[in-house]
Amino acid sequence: METVSPSLLPEPVMANLTIEIDLPEGVTITGYHRLPDAHGVEVAWLWPETGCCPRCKTVAPARMESHLEVGKTRVVRDLDILGQPAFFCYQAVFHRCPKCHHRHDLLPPFKRKDTSYTDRFEKQVLQLLIGSSEAEVARRLGISADTVRFIVKNQLADSQAFRVDPKRVITDIGMDEISLKKRHKLYVTIMTDLSDPRHPRVLAVVPGRDEKAAEACLQLLTSEQREAVLRYRVDLGAAYNKACRLLLKNAQAAVDRFHVAKLFGEAVDGVRKKNHAELQEEAVEGGAEGVPFADVGVSPRSVEPDGGGTREVGSALRAVAGAAEVV
Ligand SMILES: [Zn+2]
Repeated sequence: METVSPSLLPEPVMANLTIEIDLPEGVTITGYHRLPDAHGVEVAWLWPETGCCPRCKTVAPARMESHLEVGKTRVVRDLDILGQPAFFCYQAVFHRCPKCHHRHDLLPPFKRKDTSYTDRFEKQVLQLLIGSSEAEVARRLGISADTVRFIVKNQLADSQAFRVDPKRVITDIGMDEISLKKRHKLYVTIMTDLSDPRHPRVLAVVPGRDEKAAEACLQLLTSEQREAVLRYRVDLGAAYNKACRLLLKNAQAAVDRFHVAKLFGEAVDGVRKKNHAELQEEAVEGGAEGVPFADVGVSPRSVEPDGGGTREVGSALRAVAGAAEVV
């Protein structure tokens, strides 16, 4: 009869979780913290070699100051992980001007100034608005309707300078209206690239919902790009159809209503399913480089309130901050 000494018994099985996260270019993960209703992802990015002083405009080699010693950490909302809010956490970094000694906050490559969410979170808000109301999108993401509106306005402001990569091959175009109805009405036209249905992508955001708005979107494409478009899907009938007929000579109208909304919904849900499929016994919680979350020093004091999504998902954020303090 074979006996097994207790020490040879198998160790209790530890379940580990692998999550694949797409990162904006130049951004690396330095740590991860799992929380009851949220995910905290510590990120770092390559600092620029030079800094330009916003006050005196002096361009000088970067002289960075970080707040490691006082633990000033920024927390910004990113795309959901496993259907729960995820936050990028990073150390505040400053550039000190050698001439006038003015110090300014270094903006990470994944967000705009004075917001508490990433650029791609903004894009996701736009996508989800196709076929949904601002209230529905706000509920789905756990942010306020005002924040949804603020994001759309920021995206619209960007669209002035917006260019579509002239080398991008686009065979399928979507054109949709979104309308924000709270207080003053705001109508916006969104043009999307539906060439790869698994990766629908917002190409342009333009104010208005008429033929002119649709034309303004299509004019962002080169004439070669417009000639290469084979199908367009529009949700508003006459106005968008007319612009597409006029400017997309080789394209046919596809008549499936809500198609674009469905694609974007699937893209979001697809990401979730993919993540669920990866709940396997692999990898580890904690930083790949072994940087404990506590070292990032998230404290409730340093979570700066602003118009972004942080306040609305306050419980999750407090959890991030709280866990960091306890560890
Ligand atoms: Zn200066």
